[in-house]
Amino acid sequence: MTITGKTKVTGLIGYPVEHSLSPAMHNSAFLALGLDYCYVTFPVEPSRLEDAVRGIRALGLKGVNVTIPHKEAVIKFLDRIDSEAKEIGAVNTVVNKEGLLIGYNTDGRGFMASLNENCISLKNRKVFIIGAGGAARAVAYYLSMEAEEVLIHDIDLRKAKALSEGLRGNVRVSEGLNMIKDADIIINATPLGLKPDDPSPVPPELLKKEQVVCDLIYKKTRFLQEAELKGCLTIDGLGMLLWQGVFAFELWTGVKPPVEVMRKALLDALNPDR
Ligand code: NAP
Repeated sequence: MTITGKTKVTGLIGYPVEHSLSPAMHNSAFLALGLDYCYVTFPVEPSRLEDAVRGIRALGLKGVNVTIPHKEAVIKFLDRIDSEAKEIGAVNTVVNKEGLLIGYNTDGRGFMASLNENCISLKNRKVFIIGAGGAARAVAYYLSMEAEEVLIHDIDLRKAKALSEGLRGNVRVSEGLNMIKDADIIINATPLGLKPDDPSPVPPELLKKEQVVCDLIYKKTRFLQEAELKGCLTIDGLGMLLWQGVFAFELWTGVKPPVEVMRKALLDALNPDR
């Protein structure tokens, strides 16, 4: 990759961002297509978010991804919010259209694409989501359009209620975990599993082999390991990460992204020795 005076810059704003796999994914795609673009990370402390967004305009960045802790806070600094991102209440992708900053959310669509490539149908299915943060909201928004019922559980009941109230009538709160037994698809949308010693958010005795078990975290968490032992079909968060990136890439460049190049870049970055 050669950076020239004409190279268009995209990137990621968040805090922290050092761990991100997105530079590997996007830069390999730019290179594969011969696009004169690059992707870099910008660590932005919460108190500097407004300055950083002004910087997107001032420096003429083509667009950015937005990650924790800025996905909700960034909205008020943008010029326009796509209708789906508005309903979700969070933005993970910003496009700079000649100085006009437009916010999108590709996380939920990314998750749906990941289910789709695993041939998971949602028709007449019951989904149970653990966690009621931004990621759960993006995912529940799309799931509720196709599934029969979406149950949300969070250790903070108020958060689960707030999430369900903002979405369709088939999104309901589950105070405990017992209803997991009746679910067809179970999703961990908490950060439990990010650290190697984290416990699973679900006692394994609640799982049955007919269930599809998903984790938004993109490695094999204890939750996924225990589900696999039960014989469940498991899906980690790598597909969601890939597809949210695919949709963001297309928004910035207007070009169909090389999905398999991006997937390989993610897998290589995650397991450098493979
Ligand atoms: P978040 O805003 O922190 O939301 C997580 C929610 O889960 C919080 O409400 C938290 O409550 C709750 N929670 C924590 N432990 C719980 C437990 N044992 N049982 C029930 N609820 C619990 O995080 P987020 O931004 O939504 O992200 C959630 C996860 O998705 C993270 O692991 C993130 O890495 C992942 N993610 C993956 C992708 C991808 O592309 N694969 C994209 C976005 C996010 P408290 O706040 O009270 O702790």
